Amino acid sequence: MAAGPPNDTGLSDGGKNVGRLIRTWCALAVAALAAACATVPDAPAGPSLDAIEASLARDIATLSDDSFAGRYPGTPGEAKTRAWLIDRFVELGLAPGAGDGDWTQDFTLVRHTPATEPGSVTAGATRAGRSLRFSDDILASQPGADRATIADVPMVGLAPDVETLRPGALANRALVLPASELARLGAELETAEPKVIVLTSADRESHERAARLFESGRWRLDSDKRDLALMLLSPEDSARLRGLIGSNARRHPDGLGVISYDTILDLRFEQAAERIDTANIIGRLPGTVEGAGAVLLLAHWDHLGDQCGPPAAQDRLCNGAVDNASGLAVMAEALRLATREGPLERDLIVLATSAEELGLLGAEAFVADAPVPLPTIAAAFNFDTMAVAPRGAPVVAVGAEETPLAYGISEVARSLGREVVSSVQADAFLRRQDGWVFLREGVPAVWATSTLADEKAFEAFLDGPYHGAGDEFGPALEMGGAAEDVLLHAGLIRYFGSLQTYPGAAG
Ligand SMILES: [Zn+2]
Repeated sequence: MAAGPPNDTGLSDGGKNVGRLIRTWCALAVAALAAACATVPDAPAGPSLDAIEASLARDIATLSDDSFAGRYPGTPGEAKTRAWLIDRFVELGLAPGAGDGDWTQDFTLVRHTPATEPGSVTAGATRAGRSLRFSDDILASQPGADRATIADVPMVGLAPDVETLRPGALANRALVLPASELARLGAELETAEPKVIVLTSADRESHERAARLFESGRWRLDSDKRDLALMLLSPEDSARLRGLIGSNARRHPDGLGVISYDTILDLRFEQAAERIDTANIIGRLPGTVEGAGAVLLLAHWDHLGDQCGPPAAQDRLCNGAVDNASGLAVMAEALRLATREGPLERDLIVLATSAEELGLLGAEAFVADAPVPLPTIAAAFNFDTMAVAPRGAPVVAVGAEETPLAYGISEVARSLGREVVSSVQADAFLRRQDGWVFLREGVPAVWATSTLADEKAFEAFLDGPYHGAGDEFGPALEMGGAAEDVLLHAGLIRYFGSLQTYPGAAG
């Protein structure tokens, strides 16, 4: 489960909205529709919950062992995790699913931060034959680019009263903007597509505040995609630029609030880059009906490595027993139970993602280069942070309302004596789990779990071991809800893997 943004209400509101459980409308709708719909197939007699817990315990204990070193991408912990996953996938009867007979879908992550060497940024402006070169006290960044050259770009400003900008209005322009205006105009600026935004600062304080934007880079997929370029001028350079532009700036003839400064910007800079080579592990069990599409199961294998807790702490290893050894364990056991009597009609694709904790990046890498066309995925189920609630918890199906899967999930849950409930928490975590990346692409993806259905247990987890050295395996680890979620998912895999019970969204 990925950390939220700093102001994410999911964690910072102290959980006051947590788990206000509301019965969904499903119970009523199910009664009304039941006559028209196929029923849930009987599950073959299965193992006891105790036996399932024992099987989960084995996988969780192994994956969260100190020898896996917190499963950070690009480390020996990754190599060990990969080997374990491939063995486990073979044991489950899967074939390599990444294409070309490979188990791994390789990709590279990159994080850019401003270069610190002198001369790594040079910039100047020219107007009517007069030139100025900015001091070395410039910050420049463009996430995704090792270096950038922005030459001969006209500088423009915004009319003071402007509130909306036409898409593309700033294409191939350098927008000069007081740093204090950036937050207010954020989304508007992105669609206006300026080549670069030149942030000016009025004083040291506003300069320092804006400088923080440039300091910590975010991990992203290493690709040709570049984000918006930003440059920050010191108060002194800001004053020099104002002097060069002067006060006789005229309104741009398009009359849409863009002011031409008749001034040209030249900017060149390099950035410091860190890179990590990592991989998703993908297995596949072909279905019996060709062209019937696929059910996708996914769980992230990565965690936070060995940097949990304060530097002086004795144990800093982020074992990630709950987050997310438990997800991998529940996924494997549900798959085993669902396919005991052979393959299903639909293909099963089993995906262990990397770099979820760094921003759902393994899921992004999968959808960017999926081994099957995304529209052929009839249903996707994400397994994240599963070992939290005890037995007897209902089910929260995060994302289900945005998919055609809600009815079937309720049916399967009901056949197992469980109820699907909604939770305010579900909204807070919708965008913090891998399923979100699939939903965004139109793939129906649901995180169905007991975890969010037990408000107290979930809050205790967030306030306690979550993303800390204490997320370890031990006799006290609660696996009751996880074991019931194994049975739920075995049922879901059979239900959505069958053309009889789930013909498809339009069926
Ligand atoms: Zn996490």
